[in-house]
Amino acid sequence: MSRHPDTTRPTPTVEDYLMTMHVLERDTGEIIAARLAELLNVAPATVTMTLKRMERDSWIHGTGRSGLSLTETGRAAAHSVVRRHMLTEWLLVSVFKIPLTQTHEEAHNMEHAISPLLEERMREALGDPQVCPHGNPLPGCESVTRAWLPLTELAAGVTVTLRRIHEFAEDNPQILNFLYENGLIPGQSVLVREVLPFNQTLTLSVNEKSVTLGFSIARFVYAEP
Ligand SMILES: [Zn+2]
Ligand SMILES: [Zn+2]
Repeated sequence: MSRHPDTTRPTPTVEDYLMTMHVLERDTGEIIAARLAELLNVAPATVTMTLKRMERDSWIHGTGRSGLSLTETGRAAAHSVVRRHMLTEWLLVSVFKIPLTQTHEEAHNMEHAISPLLEERMREALGDPQVCPHGNPLPGCESVTRAWLPLTELAAGVTVTLRRIHEFAEDNPQILNFLYENGLIPGQSVLVREVLPFNQTLTLSVNEKSVTLGFSIARFVYAEP
């Protein structure tokens, strides 16, 4: 099989790595191999091997000691797969009425097969969305989400509109189901009733129902103050 790193599309495995790398780089400014292993749920040795292949194929720099970074080609490929993922999620939600709890996983299987032509048609047909159905920004649209705060940064007594469930929570079906079952989805208005930092919990009022979240989940849910 011949390899042309500049023109060929990455394999689905590499696309999965690129998508997670994009989120890490966007949020923290750095890409750490140990975090990749944890987030992709693969053994560190497997990650090391895949990263070496990715460096050989020019998607990333620096599997040595200096830390990882995306090459220009790698970043473009990462943005492409993230866009295809998010547009597919919209397609599933708006056309096929798939619930928010299942779109991420379904889109994850479909995103790799979408051509640039289809991506462009989807973007137009779906009204050029700036965030995915969970509220995460398409690459280049990060400013749209910048004013939204994690629930852990809110004070008791305020009423806010939920806007975003972070990619790392999207990836966890248990968290996603819990949030969905309790009505904690983008667009929902909630009252912050109580914040207990010493207990690492906060309690929300959602449609007159009380829901308590641990900070470990609440930090992945963002609201517009
Ligand atoms: Zn997703
Ligand atoms: Zn999403």
